[in-house]
Amino acid sequence: MKNTPWMAVGNDELNDKPVVKAGDKVICPRCGELHTLRPGQRLVPGPSGTYEDATKVRDDFLMAFSCGETVYLGALRGRLITGRLPS
Ligand SMILES: [Zn+2]
Repeated sequence: MKNTPWMAVGNDELNDKPVVKAGDKVICPRCGELHTLRPGQRLVPGPSGTYEDATKVRDDFLMAFSCGETVYLGALRGRLITGRLPS
């Protein structure tokens, strides 16, 4: 990846977004189909206190969905930021 994508979302802006959880289906803005939100992972340092023996644990702070071969950031802190919920 040549450039690292970044985004900024204000707390007030986030609070206006729909509440979601891992496993929810969202309507993809790219293809219009339903895709499933998947939780992210974070690394927890291992017994050595470093990340060399780290363990991956589920973390719902960031959630994503896949559309074909592309993965999209779908939710932040339990709020949907990409796509929309089916009615
Ligand atoms: Zn899609």
